Amino acid sequence: MTYDLVLQGGRVIDPSQSLDGVRDVAVADGKIVAVAESITGAARQTIDVRGKLVTPGLIDIHTHVYAGVTTWGVKPDPAALRSGVTTLVDAGSPSWVTVQGFRWYIAEPANVRVLTFIHISGIGLVYGPVGEMRDLDYADPEKVAEAVRENADLAVGVKVRQGQFQVGNNGVEPLRLAVEAAVQANTRVMCHIGRGVPLPDVLALLRAGDIVTHCFQGRGDCIVDETGRVVPAAWEAKQRGVIMDVGHGAGSFRWEVAERALEQGFLPDVISTDLHTGNILGPVYDMPTTMSKFLHLGLSLGQVVAASTVIPARVIGRDDLGTLRLGSPADVAVFDVVEGDFEMFDTHRRCRRVRRKLQPIYTIAQGKVFRCAEVAPEPAEAIRKRFYLGKAVKELDRELTLKQ
Ligand SMILES: [Zn+2]
Repeated sequence: MTYDLVLQGGRVIDPSQSLDGVRDVAVADGKIVAVAESITGAARQTIDVRGKLVTPGLIDIHTHVYAGVTTWGVKPDPAALRSGVTTLVDAGSPSWVTVQGFRWYIAEPANVRVLTFIHISGIGLVYGPVGEMRDLDYADPEKVAEAVRENADLAVGVKVRQGQFQVGNNGVEPLRLAVEAAVQANTRVMCHIGRGVPLPDVLALLRAGDIVTHCFQGRGDCIVDETGRVVPAAWEAKQRGVIMDVGHGAGSFRWEVAERALEQGFLPDVISTDLHTGNILGPVYDMPTTMSKFLHLGLSLGQVVAASTVIPARVIGRDDLGTLRLGSPADVAVFDVVEGDFEMFDTHRRCRRVRRKLQPIYTIAQGKVFRCAEVAPEPAEAIRKRFYLGKAVKELDRELTLKQ
């Protein structure tokens, strides 16, 4: 057999197979065909990855990539292929109304695999400055369920945002409607938690397999109380199988919250970025930076890789992804693990000095090789311009803070 690609001599960490060791990885016809200590035989391309880390391609289950249609959307390929990400999941930018366009204009043309949650609001996340569920008339659970079922290859669940900014005075009713849609479509809910809606009320409605995103947000109604103790409702939700997802974002990751939670053994299940126009230029940048923050917080390299590959795959019901098992799609990431002294910021302008950083070198997406440094980023100016409306979001947010 002639392989299309052999990655030679890297340290392969694949938590799906409890594998951590020096291996060669061979790819043919867009699939993983061999993982072994030494692979001989002809290959069209061989890459020497000795001294580097090789993992399954990263899966980022909270991103916003409906570029050109929403204030939040960044283009999927530049963001993913520069950073070892081979599957991006949009966290509810499309609605049941706009998911067809998401398929045609975003998912189909992309090199990276693009999946999505469908928002419970019929306007999706088109327009940042206005909360999408302040008016309950925007929600039609039956239409959402139908869209999830009809787009089974693309849609992995229903999204809802449960902060006061998004729901106004509607409390947890949007979440109740999202769960109703998810029950009809036999899928999961991803629920954004945020200030202004009591967390226990939100968690009480979530089922095993549903996802809390922004689990370490620190703007109010968060998982730790003012003394730094993880609240009982958060423990209770975790213990009955509600998934805790990082969803870093531009306002939803506070070092202190994560530090207190991890000290008490409250670990995230999934690491994700919530990448959008308002944070791709910092403080999020990309998935490897977010993963590096969790190395700093004390997770092992194996735990960080698991939380970014096999676990998110399972959480979205795609066991075929996030693994280097033979026959899997050839989604692979190659990193340098760089030692040094790096400043990394949360969303409250707090800095931590991080000693170890994952530096993406190659992204292999369904067998196609991309050298991360050679993938052009989206121009910063274009991103800022799209986020212009997002600035209004921040102002409204400040208003809400002042009112409290
Ligand atoms: Zn988001």
